[in-house]
Amino acid sequence: MPLPPELSALFEAARLARERAYAPYSGYAVGAAVETEEGRIYSGCNVENAAFPQSLCAERVAVAKAVSEGHRRVRRLLVLTEDGGTPCGGCRSVVAEFGSPETEIIVVNVEGHWRQYRLEELLPVAFEMSFVGRPSEPSRGRS
Ligand SMILES: [Zn+2]
Repeated sequence: MPLPPELSALFEAARLARERAYAPYSGYAVGAAVETEEGRIYSGCNVENAAFPQSLCAERVAVAKAVSEGHRRVRRLLVLTEDGGTPCGGCRSVVAEFGSPETEIIVVNVEGHWRQYRLEELLPVAFEMSFVGRPSEPSRGRS
């Protein structure tokens, strides 16, 4: 089944970002794109580093770009990899910070096969801001 038309802009942003992936160590290029509550799209690619723990996942790059442009709510995340890999645990927590249990996570492989999840399926019982004494909704930034 092809991707639905409402995901085509998100897919194209992730595809272009994946072409810019810096993955000389793993060879595992990842492109990601987030759609904010306002409908803006921000993309990211993985950026590896010779000091391996300093490497950045594509998903976190995309979320950080959205937040740095004043957006605080993520509606959807699309991730494009060779084999349709799902976001790592750390990225799931980062998406949880700016999304909701209903945030859509779409994983796509290079052949166009895709699966869609809700964040709560990939990260049940997320660690969230209420555990550290903060209200459950992040402030909105620009809106
Ligand atoms: Zn990750």
